[in-house]
Amino acid sequence: MKLNAHIASLPAGYLFAEIGKRVKAYQTAHPDADLIRLGIGDVTRPIAPSVARVFADTALKMGTPEGFHGYAPDYGYNFLIDAIIRADYAPRGVSLKPEEVFISDGAKPDVGNLQELFGADARIAVTDPVYPVYVDSNAMAGRLGSFDGGRWSGLCYLPCTAENGFIPPLPPEHVDVIYLCYPNNPTGTVLTKDQLKVFVDWALKEDALIVYDAAYKAFITEKDIPQSIYEVPGAEKCCIECCSFSKTAGFTGVRCGYMIIPTSVTGTVGNERVSLNRLWQRRMSTKSNGVSYPVQCAAAQVFAPDGHREVMESISYYLNNASVIRTGLEKAGCRCFGGVNSPYVWMQTPDGMKSWDFFDLLLDKAHVVGTPGEGFGPSGEGYFRLTAFNTLEKTKEAVERVTGVL
Ligand SMILES: *Cc1c(COP(=O)(O)O)cnc(C)c1O
Repeated sequence: MKLNAHIASLPAGYLFAEIGKRVKAYQTAHPDADLIRLGIGDVTRPIAPSVARVFADTALKMGTPEGFHGYAPDYGYNFLIDAIIRADYAPRGVSLKPEEVFISDGAKPDVGNLQELFGADARIAVTDPVYPVYVDSNAMAGRLGSFDGGRWSGLCYLPCTAENGFIPPLPPEHVDVIYLCYPNNPTGTVLTKDQLKVFVDWALKEDALIVYDAAYKAFITEKDIPQSIYEVPGAEKCCIECCSFSKTAGFTGVRCGYMIIPTSVTGTVGNERVSLNRLWQRRMSTKSNGVSYPVQCAAAQVFAPDGHREVMESISYYLNNASVIRTGLEKAGCRCFGGVNSPYVWMQTPDGMKSWDFFDLLLDKAHVVGTPGEGFGPSGEGYFRLTAFNTLEKTKEAVERVTGVL
C-alpha cells in the first residue's frame, strides 16, 4: 500500500518528546527533586463557574425531548455566531456577516486544515521562532521541500529576534501565504496596528493571504495593540483570523474555536478569482459535522457579562504570574521579552548559552522546567520560554530558584 511520503519523512515531534525524556531521566536519578514546570503550554485554572453551569445544564437537557439536539449546523449555531459578532468584533469597529464566522473544535485544527485550500505549489512564509502547526501541516501536504539542518528548503523564514525587536521583516520574495500569530507563541511579543498594516499592505500588493492566529488576544492589556487583524484597514480583503476559547476561557479540554473568513478574501484558480469563504464552506460541509450543542452553549456564555468577568479573572491571574516572571528575571539582569500582553516570557539565555544547555542547567540546578527556544525554529536558539500557567506560589518559587543559579 502506498503511503504519504511527506508525513513519513517529517522530523519526529522532537521538542516536547525530548523535554519529557530529559525530565523523566532526571527524576529517575533524583527522585526527591521537587520540579516546578514553567514549560506548561496548557491552562490550569478551572472553567469559569457560570460557563461550567451552562455546559452541564445543556448537557442534561440533551436527555429530555425538549432539550435534545442532533447534528449541529455545519458552520455553528447562530446564537454563538451572533454572540461573537456582537461581543467580540462590533466593539472594535469590525462588522462581520454571520456567514463569515465558522465555529470549530479549535484553532489548531483550523490552522492545520486551512492549508487544504492552498495550491499544491503555494509559497509559505512563517515568523521564526514559530508555533509548529503552520509549518508541519504544510510539510504534510508536500509544500516545503526537504528538511535539512533544521530548515525546510522551500519555506520562507521571517526571523524575529532581539536585534529586530521581534518585528518580522517582510518576505524578501513573493509568497502566497504568511502566517502571523499575535500575541505571539512562543515569544509573547505583539505588533502594533501600524506594524501589522505593513504586512496587510504588502499582502494586498502581492496578492498574498495572511493567516492571523489570535489565540492569545484575551491577554492583550495595552491599548494600542489590536485584538483583531480586521482593525487594520484592508485586512478584510486578505486576512483570515483564527480564534479559540482554549486560552481565553480554559477550553483546552472542552474544544471550541472559530475562524473568520470574510467573503471579500479571494485567491486565484487559473485565471479566475475564487472566494476562500466559499471553498471553506465546501470543505467544512464535507469533512465536519459541527461542534456539540452543550459546548457551543458554554462558549456563548463566555460572552455573557458574568461569564466574561469570571474568565477575565483567570486571565489576570496568569498575567500577574507573567509579570512576576518577567520582573524577577529582569531584576537579576536577564533580558526578557513578552509577558505583558501574553502568558509567555521569552528570555535570552545568559552569556549566549545554547538553549538546550540552559534547559539542562535549570533542570539540574534550579529544578525548573522550561522550553528551549531552539525547538520553535532556528531563530529561537539562544532563547528560552517560560509560561505563566502554573500557580502564583510555584511561579514565585521558580523565579527565586532560577535567579539563584544565574
Ligand atoms: C494554544 C494555541 C492555539 C489553540 O488551539 P486550540 O486547538 O483552539 O486549543 C492556537 N494557536 C496557538 C499559537 C496556540 O498556542
